[in-house]
Amino acid sequence: MSAMLPLQQPARRRPRWLRRPFKWSRRWSLWVLLVALLVTMLGTLVWLAGRYEASLVQARLERDTAEIVADIHNGLARNIQSLQALPSDERSADIWRLQASELLRQRREIVRIERRDDSLETLQVDETPFRRSVFARLGRAGVEPDTSQACNTALRLKGPAYSNSYFVPQADGLGLELLELCLPLMADGRLTGYTVATYSLQNILTELVGQQLARGQGLSFTEADGTRLAIAGMPARGSRIYNAQQLLDLPGTKLVVRMDSWRGTPDFFPNMLTALVSAMALALIAVLLMLGRDMRRRLKVERDLAEALAFRKAMEDSLVTGLRARDLQGRITYVNPAFCQMVGVEAKELLDHKFPSPYWPPELAGVYQDRQAIRLASNNLPQGGFESVFMRRDGTRFPVLIIEAPLINASGKHTGWMSAIVDISEQRRVEEMSRASQDRLQATARLAMVGEMASLLSHELNQPLAAISSYATGSLNLLDDAGRSPGGLSADLRVALKRISEQAERAGKVIKSVHDFVRRREQVREAVAPRALLDAIMPLISLQARKLSVSLVTDVAPNCEAVLCDRTMVEQVLLNLSRNGMQAMQAQGKKLAATERLLTLRARPAAGDKRGWVEFSVTDHGVGIPPEVAEKLFTPFFTTKVEGMGLGLSLCRTVIEQHGGHLEFEPAQPRGTQFRFTLPSGSLPAPQTGLSHPTTVRPTTSELSS
Ligand code: ADP
Repeated sequence: MSAMLPLQQPARRRPRWLRRPFKWSRRWSLWVLLVALLVTMLGTLVWLAGRYEASLVQARLERDTAEIVADIHNGLARNIQSLQALPSDERSADIWRLQASELLRQRREIVRIERRDDSLETLQVDETPFRRSVFARLGRAGVEPDTSQACNTALRLKGPAYSNSYFVPQADGLGLELLELCLPLMADGRLTGYTVATYSLQNILTELVGQQLARGQGLSFTEADGTRLAIAGMPARGSRIYNAQQLLDLPGTKLVVRMDSWRGTPDFFPNMLTALVSAMALALIAVLLMLGRDMRRRLKVERDLAEALAFRKAMEDSLVTGLRARDLQGRITYVNPAFCQMVGVEAKELLDHKFPSPYWPPELAGVYQDRQAIRLASNNLPQGGFESVFMRRDGTRFPVLIIEAPLINASGKHTGWMSAIVDISEQRRVEEMSRASQDRLQATARLAMVGEMASLLSHELNQPLAAISSYATGSLNLLDDAGRSPGGLSADLRVALKRISEQAERAGKVIKSVHDFVRRREQVREAVAPRALLDAIMPLISLQARKLSVSLVTDVAPNCEAVLCDRTMVEQVLLNLSRNGMQAMQAQGKKLAATERLLTLRARPAAGDKRGWVEFSVTDHGVGIPPEVAEKLFTPFFTTKVEGMGLGLSLCRTVIEQHGGHLEFEPAQPRGTQFRFTLPSGSLPAPQTGLSHPTTVRPTTSELSS
């Protein structure tokens, strides 16, 4: 059946991710890819940040170098002006000397100044006071070609010109890179001589720009192949050295100025930007880890959820109780296979169906729908469930027990109703069978009791029959003597026949009471006065009472209301209890004084919370009930009597409980036992006493909702 029940509700369908679980390997490869991408991205970011930082440093270095080259240019230009200011004629030789030595003192980059004539013959020479003469060791002659090259260029350019730099070894084993500046001296458009200044490249660097150099920066003049000619500052060695080169374009020569810069000791975070990017990268990795952890938790929850769903499905499929969920409008949103099987309708049909539902019996559909509307509107659910009648597809009706509970969703909102439905037709069948066997049992018990009474009956009937016989004989005698005394016949005969009729009536009553008791009748509840109940059993118990010399006392309170009961049953209970009481007193034998052989049957209104009920009691002064007997008193077939059946008390209790009452007992004073039971008075509403008794007043199907 379940194969043809594709449940339509979305919740029953396994979600896609449950049906085709995400492959672990695929999930892992995605994670690996994500991490790899992230690491690559972060690496690139850090690298780019480093590159950017380096390019900034490089650009600054380039700018600094360009400024330094400009400074050198300016310095040299200033020197040219100072050199041009030197007197050039022969008369001012002393002034020249003074001014030249002053200039040499101020400009340490100039190591020598010469005044030459127009054929480059040296006229005057002055050298820097700050060091020994640079040409002291090798003489000036060796470098004369450089000087004349500069002067030729100067002549051609008609302005100051420089020679190529050259190296002059010194006495201390080191050497100096020098540069000649030749300044043609003109007077009236005619060349009168030259001023030649010798520069130390080293000093150009230290004097013109040395102060600007920061720690870790080095400045040098280099050749095209990178050979250093002169150097200022102390560039550190290492991997993080930046350098920039600029061409110092001087008339007649070109020099390359190279600046090296070293950016501090290398550390893990070389600069702010990289540090920032790295911090962000670390934060990103942390977030990634947290995400990973979150994902792991989610996966676990997913797995748990899948297991819970599978468990729920297995549970639903194995249930024999029908489950049905409805929304607030009463439409079915879910049914389990057991429900479909119960009503013989497919789930799809049930879910799509409009009112009336296919399992409502047509004759009750209107009532069900009205009642459902009222109940759903008032949000009022019957406590403990209610009974109803459903219809199978083949039209057969069957009783069901429905238990409903509100459906509350995850956010606490009331979204509908969940019902559990139990098919109680089998239960009803069993109840019916048990009722029938109960009836048979009670009839048997009655017959057994009648059997017991048979001897008493014969004795009882003996008296009226003997009386009838003697009256009949007397009447015959009277008829025989009729001739002798005709006057008195009719009066005597009338008396005798009246007696015969009375006695016959008495015998008839005895037989009828037994007949009434034994006859099985329809079980109906009626209001009966307590007195009538006691009177009805009196003829029967008085037979036994007389035999056992027991006095019967009946006491009915005047304000006692009629009780609503099955008369025959209650009479049997009273009879049973009275008979037991008398037998208990008989068991006492001679120990019991004649005045104590009393059986009291009492009826009075019940007190306390049983207001509106009537309490009956049967009190004897017999042997009493020992505790070991008390334990099993109401157990069927328990008896202490040789010929007892042990059914009396168990049946009595069943009967009383079927009426909604309660049967109990307690010791009587000074001895004996009192049995008490309660019955509802006619003024009370009929009691609801469960499912086990056929006369229980049940709600009719029309009173029930669907
Ligand atoms: P039965 O009378 O056939 O034995 P019952 O169910 O009526 O079956 O009683 C069960 C037992 O309870 C009796 O055998 C008796 O021992 C005990 N019993 C019942 N009523 C009394 C009573 N009034 N006093 C003492 N014992 C009693």
